[in-house]
Amino acid sequence: MIRILDTKEFSHFLRVHRNEIIKRWLNKNEVQHILHKHSLPVIDKNSHILYEFCDCYISVIQWDSTISECHVKLQFLELLRNYNIATHELYTLLARLKTAIERIIFENGNLSFALQEEIESLTLEMANDLIGTFEAMREGKTDYKSENTNLLNEYKKAVDLSNIVSKTNPKGIITYVNEKFCEISGYTKDELIGKPHNIIRHPDMSREAFKELWDTIKTKKSWHGVVKNMKKDGGQYIVDTTVIPILDVDGDVTEYIAIRHDITELEETKEQLRNINKAMKSKVDELYSMTHTLEEKANRDNLTGIHNRDSFENMFSEEIKYAKSNRLPLSLMLFDIDFFKEINDTFGHQAGDNILIEIASLISQNIKASDIFARWGGEEFVILLPNTPLEGAYTFAKKLREIIAEHMFSYKETITASFGVVQLDDHDDKATLFHKADKALYAAKANGRNRVEKALFECKG
Ligand code: GH3
Ligand code: MG
Ligand code: MG
Repeated sequence: MIRILDTKEFSHFLRVHRNEIIKRWLNKNEVQHILHKHSLPVIDKNSHILYEFCDCYISVIQWDSTISECHVKLQFLELLRNYNIATHELYTLLARLKTAIERIIFENGNLSFALQEEIESLTLEMANDLIGTFEAMREGKTDYKSENTNLLNEYKKAVDLSNIVSKTNPKGIITYVNEKFCEISGYTKDELIGKPHNIIRHPDMSREAFKELWDTIKTKKSWHGVVKNMKKDGGQYIVDTTVIPILDVDGDVTEYIAIRHDITELEETKEQLRNINKAMKSKVDELYSMTHTLEEKANRDNLTGIHNRDSFENMFSEEIKYAKSNRLPLSLMLFDIDFFKEINDTFGHQAGDNILIEIASLISQNIKASDIFARWGGEEFVILLPNTPLEGAYTFAKKLREIIAEHMFSYKETITASFGVVQLDDHDDKATLFHKADKALYAAKANGRNRVEKALFECKG
């Protein structure tokens, strides 16, 4: 079943079968004969010209370009001129190409009649155009390059006006610079031509950066990147650079063309933005840590530095919720310094303050990180003991009582405190639990102070 190719499929087909088309085209005796006659053996190192010739043809019938387009026509004419191919031979070459394509298509599908007609007329148009120019050239009416050279000059002018352009030989010696190059670098043409290109190299540019450039262009590939250059007066400029290796017919590099755009302002703005960004980031960090410090401060007791009552109450609610939902024991310990009023009266309020600080520090050193220790108010402190049953809390309270009683304080050598402990009951909330602890503390005071009392744990489960 023969399939009719549409325009898009046809274009794709040509791209895919490019090598096969060239092979078929070159295999035909007629073509071989012409090529041999003009010293163009196919296995020759110049065979890539034939590939270019075929490529030009394909790109025209693929509607990628038109025959009058500068580079296509120049390539065709270059081939005709270099090998002095006769007019009728050009017809043969193009006709064979067309046949090679049609043959391959025929084996794979088919072309619509309209497309066939179009290829036919394009091939003819190509041949006529090329032959017309070529013959006019031979008769000396026109230089084969003239019409294309004009176009090329236009391109060159446009490139020179809008870019910084230089050329070097394969060794990197400058052979050409345009006005813009001189303008930005501060050198005159005479100062640059004949010099190595690294005359404008900026010391900030690393050797590796240039190594990558040279490694790329030596393999005949273009290189693109951003380069910092140095002006004659030591100033710097930053350029977006493309370096293109120019090859001769044998495929050897004859020169390198470098085309650059000045992006100094853009890069400097980017640098400024980076700095602003950095400064802003450090300000944000500063603000963040200030907020953190403020939050910390808001949660701390001014005098002792341990949790204050607000902070404790928040954690208290959370711990009750957690203990209830995970069915874990939770105990609360409340303690109050004995006869603190006397201490104040005897040694002064400041001494009282210092003792509060000392007690807070002493207790902090003797509790676990998971215990929550806070100043409830005045000389009254609380410790919440997660995952601790009443007996454990009771034993621990006795230990703390002993630690306080045995500690040598700065003003008054012996100070004691009374403790009340309680374990969370299923029906307790913050208020009832605290109330029970307070009652136990009251009992400790009533029973002689410097002792621990526990509230009865009622299991109603
Ligand atoms: P007890 O608890 O053994 O019954 O006797 P107490 O003398 O400790 O009892 P009370 O609660 O009546 O007195 C507590 C005293 O603590 C009253 C107050 O002057 C003092 N006080 C409360 N807060 C502070 C504080 O921040 N600094 C100082 N220096 N004293 C405080
Ligand atoms: Mg008190
Ligand atoms: Mg007291």
